[in-house]
Amino acid sequence: MALLQISEPGQTTAPHQHRLAVGIDLGTTNSLVATVRSAQAQTLPDENGHHLLPSVVRYGEEVIEVGDAAVEHAVKDPSNTIVSVKRLMGRAAADLKSLGESSPYEFSTGDSSVAKIKTRSGDVSAVEVSAEILKTLKNRAIATLGDDLVGAVITVPAYFDDAQRQATKDAARLADLNVLRLLNEPTAAAVAYGLDTGQEGVIAIYDLGGGTFDISILRLKQGVFEVLATGGDSALGGDDFDHVIAEWMLQQAAYKKTPSPSLVRLLMREARSAKEQLASDNEVNIKVEAEDFKWQGVLSLSQMRDLIEPLIKKTIMACRRSLRDADVSAEDVLEVVMVGGSTRTLAVREMVGEFFQREPLVSIDPDKVVAVGAALQADVLAGNKPGDEMLLLDVIPLSLGIETMGGLSEKIIYRNTPIPVAKAQDFTTYKDGQTAMAVHVVQGERELVDDCRSLARFDLRGFPPSVAGAARIRVTYQVDADGLLTVSAREENSGVEASVDVKPSYGLTDSEIETMLRDSMDHASDDMHSRMLREQQVEAERVVEALDAALKKDGDELLSEEEKGNISEARELLVNAKASDDSENIKAAIKKLENACADYVARRMNSNIRNAMQGHSVEEYAGKDQE
Ligand code: ADP
Ligand code: MG
Repeated sequence: MALLQISEPGQTTAPHQHRLAVGIDLGTTNSLVATVRSAQAQTLPDENGHHLLPSVVRYGEEVIEVGDAAVEHAVKDPSNTIVSVKRLMGRAAADLKSLGESSPYEFSTGDSSVAKIKTRSGDVSAVEVSAEILKTLKNRAIATLGDDLVGAVITVPAYFDDAQRQATKDAARLADLNVLRLLNEPTAAAVAYGLDTGQEGVIAIYDLGGGTFDISILRLKQGVFEVLATGGDSALGGDDFDHVIAEWMLQQAAYKKTPSPSLVRLLMREARSAKEQLASDNEVNIKVEAEDFKWQGVLSLSQMRDLIEPLIKKTIMACRRSLRDADVSAEDVLEVVMVGGSTRTLAVREMVGEFFQREPLVSIDPDKVVAVGAALQADVLAGNKPGDEMLLLDVIPLSLGIETMGGLSEKIIYRNTPIPVAKAQDFTTYKDGQTAMAVHVVQGERELVDDCRSLARFDLRGFPPSVAGAARIRVTYQVDADGLLTVSAREENSGVEASVDVKPSYGLTDSEIETMLRDSMDHASDDMHSRMLREQQVEAERVVEALDAALKKDGDELLSEEEKGNISEARELLVNAKASDDSENIKAAIKKLENACADYVARRMNSNIRNAMQGHSVEEYAGKDQE
């Protein structure tokens, strides 16, 4: 094939040159690849005609197997067969301990902060396992479409944090796949239905898969999807439907013993196939004969509905919570998009429709809808639609801030700002003679750094000393289209700079993000109070330190004993006030001390000027404060 040419997304191409780009849904249970051909987005099958690739990787004796082949071996060789690896993406070794017993793998306890799973082919990280899945899908695309693959849009859950997104990009790089963009799964589903070009307003994406439930409330505004709220249950899905149906079968058969693991597995399989059949039939005959279990019966649609209704109600409750978090009501929702295999169950469609009071969108295969949306987006990004301005933007899920004196978080980019985005803010030095500044990047809505998540720290060093407040340090936060952050700092007078790509400390769970958001709302007024208090405390400290330094230098020379006494009294008052938790009190004490010092300050200024005229420079003076 000809040499691969890659140019910037968005550049126009000659009409006959359709550039191949794919959308990939990298799922917990199943993954898919899709592309746009003849203006139609479609998922690509493997050589057996299967579109869904089970997200399962087996490290075999000689080969690495991915998908159906790996699934077949999962029972025989569980410790070398990795399933649901998506749940481990971007997680530190320490985080995985909490998964504990439920996980069949052994985790390596090496010194790396990245979690690794022990297999017969050595220790593998979640990124490496995901890369195998991506490689398989890439090869499927190349086999169908030819070599000239420009790149891929890969979808991730809306609640994925920086670490999880970075891990997904790393996996793509390892699979030698050019990532055009990471796209939120609910956004992709909305795009598949063309909602991005439709009426502006609130859209709900209801995603019920095999083992997880996600609800996302989005708002479309000027071509941008804003994530208003995400919620769900990471341990609720179609597998739980199977479970209650299997229990029911045991009951019907009046089976009193504890079923063996193999009987449970068999019943679960029967339950699943009965459930799936009930998506199109009114009733289904079931016949199970195994070990000492023998039963034959009929499961009707209404019987199944009774069994699974409590589970569906749980998802509805999560929807209600998310609407509340988003501060919208069910009537505000324009469209409800159904995603995930379990939304084929009629009772699910009905109950979701009832709750939102509108027919949910189901015309696109719920397994494929995310991949289809990703493919449409990839097509645009690959430049196949010259002049098409539809460039979807996502928003950042949690505010990005910087630590300022007193442990406060100063937000630089606010939550829900569309990306890509760059914002700069100027800071200055706190002390005379300061030549370095620590930059601490935090994520979260709370006012105090301790309540936010620490993303990165770096130092800007080696700028020339000057008086406090004279240095001008511009800190720039830049978030690229994939939601990844670069922070740089530059002292503008000297040009000294430093920067860091944020590779966040791994491991913030979805529920932690939700908790962080909820906490910030719950604590808003507490936080404002702590913020004002800290600010006044910092100011008090600064005033006292500056005063002490000045007194040491020229207090005896410029002040009478009486004046010194007054100042010292006011200083004492402020030191005591600072220890209180009353910001107004501290503010008043600062004012008092400043008044007591007014004459002294004026005298110092004059004396400085005199000194300068005697051949000294003010800078030299300032320099004497250097530590
Ligand atoms: P995930 O999002 O976890 O990767 P999927 O979206 O592929 O999962 O959904 C898998 C679930 O969908 C399984 O529980 C499966 O039983 C269920 N499912 C698939 N087809 C049907 C159907 N026809 N009726 C009901 N449930 C179905
Ligand atoms: Mg899914």
